[in-house]
Amino acid sequence: MRDKDGKGRHTTTRRSLHQHEGIILIDSFGVREIPAVEDLDSIDSVFLDIIEVAQECYFSDCAHEQEPDCAVQDAIEAGELSEDRLLRYRRMQYEALRNDPAHRREQRRSERQSSKNATRGKRFAMMQKNRQN
Ligand SMILES: [Zn+2]
Repeated sequence: MRDKDGKGRHTTTRRSLHQHEGIILIDSFGVREIPAVEDLDSIDSVFLDIIEVAQECYFSDCAHEQEPDCAVQDAIEAGELSEDRLLRYRRMQYEALRNDPAHRREQRRSERQSSKNATRGKRFAMMQKNRQN
């Protein structure tokens, strides 16, 4: 905060609460970052309307994109569901997956797999160097 006018970046001097389509955002001083929603179940509980419609999708693992007989896309087309809401639901799912420890483990494993060859190459180079000494 600047002394001159008492303003600054990332500062909130009063609490406010915003409610929008079932999502409550609390802006409060001392909070710089809203913690990510980590589990998919709690996201689903916020988007129950989408979940409910999605049960009518032809494919049980429907991504509600280009699939035929997608009930979610039908509902959007019929104006029963907002596309914004579907996009928000997707974004939150993506965030949750990114924060999911099991998913991260999986990612690390594949990273390790791809760096294996590089490590092997390095080790070989080191052996060569030691031999020269
Ligand atoms: Zn669908």
